[in-house]
Amino acid sequence: MTVAAMLAAKGGSVITASPGELVSKIVERLAENKIGAIVVTDDKDAVCGIVSERDIVRDIARSGSSILGQPVSKCMTANVISCAEEDTIDQVMAHMTKGRFRHLPVQKDGRLIGIISIGDVVKRKIEQAERDAEDLRNYIAAG
Ligand code: AMP
Repeated sequence: MTVAAMLAAKGGSVITASPGELVSKIVERLAENKIGAIVVTDDKDAVCGIVSERDIVRDIARSGSSILGQPVSKCMTANVISCAEEDTIDQVMAHMTKGRFRHLPVQKDGRLIGIISIGDVVKRKIEQAERDAEDLRNYIAAG
């Protein structure tokens, strides 16, 4: 399965923030949207960072709650790894495993066109395993 097929099923909408948005606002938006990360984009809509709940927890552990009053650019990861529509689910899993992160923005021609989370990957892998088991059962039953 490709990233394009996953996006066709789940849609391409992505929650984004600008670099100047306060971390306190990011926390609210993570909670409201029940998500674990927000992609940070500049005024030309280019991806310039990603902030996950882990970044915020890490900075609170390091320096206390003062981070909540800081712009998100202070705690985001600026070096974002993205994938492309033609990438496969196994390539996405390999990126996540190697980078030890759970979110992969999808970019096309420098534009953000979606995001794949580890939850999306696990859902697809379970569906595939169920299909494979069903095929095997049918094959055995056909004798
Ligand atoms: P996550 O597991 O996705 O919640 O993120 C764990 C750490 O990896 C955090 O520091 C994130 O900012 C960072 N991170 C998450 N996704 C990406 C990505 N696609 N590229 C680079 N860093 C990322």
